[in-house]
Amino acid sequence: MKRVAILGGGPAGAFAAEQLASAGLKVQLFDEKLAWEKPCGGGLTYKAYSQYPFLLHNTTPKRTIRETVLSAPRAGEVSLPLDEPLLIYSRFDLNRMLLERAERAGAQIEQARVNEMTRAGSGWQLRTSGGTADADFCIVATGARNPLRDFGTELKSHDTMSALGYYVPGDQERIDIQFLPQLEGYIWIFPRCGHLSIGICGKGEPASALRKRLENWMAERAIPWKDGTFYSHLLPALETRSWKQNRVSGEGWMAVGDAAGLVDPITGEGIYYAMRSGDLAARTLLDETRSVNARAEEYRRVLRRDFAADLEFGSRLAHRIFVGRFLFGTIPQRMVQFTRRSARFSVIMQDLFSGRQPYLGLKKRLMSNLNGSLYEIGMSLGFSSQVPRKARA
Ligand SMILES: Cc1cc2nc3c(=O)[nH]c(=O)nc-3n(C[C@H](O)[C@H](O)[C@H](O)COP(=O)(O)OP(=O)(O)OC[C@H]3O[C@@H](n4cnc5c(N)ncnc54)[C@H](O)[C@@H]3O)c2cc1C
Repeated sequence: MKRVAILGGGPAGAFAAEQLASAGLKVQLFDEKLAWEKPCGGGLTYKAYSQYPFLLHNTTPKRTIRETVLSAPRAGEVSLPLDEPLLIYSRFDLNRMLLERAERAGAQIEQARVNEMTRAGSGWQLRTSGGTADADFCIVATGARNPLRDFGTELKSHDTMSALGYYVPGDQERIDIQFLPQLEGYIWIFPRCGHLSIGICGKGEPASALRKRLENWMAERAIPWKDGTFYSHLLPALETRSWKQNRVSGEGWMAVGDAAGLVDPITGEGIYYAMRSGDLAARTLLDETRSVNARAEEYRRVLRRDFAADLEFGSRLAHRIFVGRFLFGTIPQRMVQFTRRSARFSVIMQDLFSGRQPYLGLKKRLMSNLNGSLYEIGMSLGFSSQVPRKARA
């Protein structure tokens, strides 16, 4: 197997192309737009740049954010310092950097739309807007709106979130995250180079209703949006049962990034998983000890071991985290209050934001810290005189 076609040049496709071309394969990458400002926050967590340090160390413009402010109804707001900062890129810049790296590694980059991918013997024939191309293996990296119905995740409406918002003039040094009543999702303000991205994502609500919620929220804060640039897109947010049947590979192909549904179903983080899956797909494909079809099967197992089992577990928590209840309040309300009053809880939240705390193991850590957190909360509320001296020690 020598020639690999990569369909889509976002973070998933571009990173897979770089890895495969560096290993000496003949790689042809097709993207209908090449570098473009994909609707996206552009936020990269510590998990991403600790795994791929070049994301931190480069000359591409980006913001470095060290504070998140969390707000929830009836809980006010709380500042969460980020000891491992969040990086924010424009997606045009990030995509361009990744495509240039792939090109430098030897990949051939073509601006063309792939309209069809058909089996030809043990390989593939592609019909593109620029003509036809042949390949021995295909990597499908066409994103959440993957037009190639037979390859990649079959996204049903319950497996997606709508995400939309406005780019508006402005600047701030922090990220804002606002939870809303009865919404499995949130509003964000991300400062980017030269403007703010203010958006909302949510599951189970039509995009028009989310837009209304966002505009009402912006109006309450006197943030004008009429001169801003509107954006909207789809985010995969797979249900637990969909993770179990997720179609990530088949004979002669693997899907990576959003085309394989690989997005955190709680936060919507997807850039890291796009790059990581591109990396894992490339590594699995380069393993010549297995047959080509066995490599496609192995990719599924490798993904699961690396992060998909954690995202699947996250999908079980998603609904409860946004609309569940704990100690007579909503979970977002308690999350904000606990972060404000318990240093231990705040550290757990920081680890969740940076990606150092996976979902698997979160409950155990919360439970083992619960007494300590409740004690800190009690003390901060002035109950110290009612806590027995022995317990305080
Ligand atoms: C509003 C919003 C905010 C987000 N914020 C964040 C965030 O802050 N941090 C984070 O980590 N994630 C975020 N995400 C998720 C993130 O954007 C995606 O997970 C990530 O872009 C996935 O990368 P990808 O390469 O799989 O797909 P994409 O980035 O979507 O790239 C797919 C590429 O395929 C090309 N393509 C599609 N079809 C064809 C075709 N037929 N032929 C040729 N080319 C084709 C497209 O032009 C595109 O360039 C956000 C998503 C949304 C919608």
